[in-house]
Amino acid sequence: MTPWNERDLAVIWHPCTQMKDHETFPPLVIERGEGVWLYDIHGKRYLDAISSWWVNLFGHARQEIADAIAQQAHTLEQVIFSHFSHTPAIMLAERLVHKAPSGLSKVFFSDNGSTAVEVALKMSFQYHRQTNNPQKHLFVKLTDAYHGETVGALSVGDISLYREIFHPLLFATVTVEGPDCYRCPYGKNRDTCEVECFEKMAQALTIWGDEVAAVIIEPLVQAAAGMKMYPPLYLKKLREITSSLDIHLIADEVAVGFGRTGTFFACEQAEISPDFLCLSKGLTGGFLPMGLTLTTENIYQAFYDDYKSLRAFMHSHSYTGNPLACAAALATLNLFDTTQVLKENISKSTFLFQQASTSLANLEMIGEYRQRGMIGAIELVEDKKTKKTFDWEKRIGYRIYRRALDKGLLLRPLGNILYFMPPYNINYEEIQWMVETAVTSISEFFTQERDW
Ligand code: PMP
Repeated sequence: MTPWNERDLAVIWHPCTQMKDHETFPPLVIERGEGVWLYDIHGKRYLDAISSWWVNLFGHARQEIADAIAQQAHTLEQVIFSHFSHTPAIMLAERLVHKAPSGLSKVFFSDNGSTAVEVALKMSFQYHRQTNNPQKHLFVKLTDAYHGETVGALSVGDISLYREIFHPLLFATVTVEGPDCYRCPYGKNRDTCEVECFEKMAQALTIWGDEVAAVIIEPLVQAAAGMKMYPPLYLKKLREITSSLDIHLIADEVAVGFGRTGTFFACEQAEISPDFLCLSKGLTGGFLPMGLTLTTENIYQAFYDDYKSLRAFMHSHSYTGNPLACAAALATLNLFDTTQVLKENISKSTFLFQQASTSLANLEMIGEYRQRGMIGAIELVEDKKTKKTFDWEKRIGYRIYRRALDKGLLLRPLGNILYFMPPYNINYEEIQWMVETAVTSISEFFTQERDW
């Protein structure tokens, strides 16, 4: 018996409960989590193949992180973060600066991924105003970009599903056609190309460069776009051109940071340092909300002045630098430092690739299986030859997701793309089961259902 009934459940406005078909498919109520598994109130378990929207790194209810939060809660749960600081925040900033690409020596705290992005946008804009370049007010983004859903972050996003209705509220940006490796218009292969597609960015910056404050990018994987993956060389070229034109580079590693792509930060694979690095999600191991924006001493100096100059960056949130979130983040960093997780992930990701690519090879509707580090994505297509996508109204990914859920696999799709982004403590047997169950769900769908 639960202390609530169906009517109470409907009080929460979940994104999914706005759609009528959810009347017959209400939200699953999860009671507890352990490792890669979530357990609902009826005792059924689900393998969390998507790390609960990419936040969880070391498994649910991970003891070391839970203990660190509990201990911190008994010591200091929250304190104003203006003219006051605390040890967990100081230690976290210090440790991240050492892990981050070189030159990122200042850490600004906030409380989610969208806000980490908002902070970078506002800082970049204000920096140019305060360094005699007020004409630099534009932001450049890639097609299919996603950087969050607050109004500023949405402005630099390009996914119409989230943007369209709010269009009149959003600020103007320059949108550049980004890499599209599966459907490469240059007929190249992402493993061997010279990122010929970068010419679009070079052209845009030649035209708009003088007015551009910053280019914002999701390094290596455009996650919400459907795990679109592109080579590090694109980032290298982008860093070169932005540096030469006095344009900031904002690397949004909210989704790809903390080992997801194989290295601790994705930027490492391109050997670049951005001007801003936005972090959230895995930062606290998936336990508590926190956002960080790392930047350079040079940018900080443009804000540093007498009180009366009014040059300071004015942006604060009540829960900025929350000590519990800092304790969770420190415990997460400890797990990186005291285990061989990144090394073990190399073997796990090789195993995942072998399992997925061989078992998907014979399925008719698989356009591509792509993987970078611990992110693997299956793109479903109506026609393998032409790479034609399924009409979104058919909800193919969603219908396969429901089949997989019945089997105990949480495999949340992005349109026609299903993906694996599991917690790092997934074991080999679980990887095998995850892939087999996904493949069975896909093949059963296409053989047993007619309307696709
Ligand atoms: N940037 C990227 C690349 C993201 O994937 C996300 C979230 N999916 C965000 C920003 C926004 O993070 P949050 O949901 O914590 O606001």
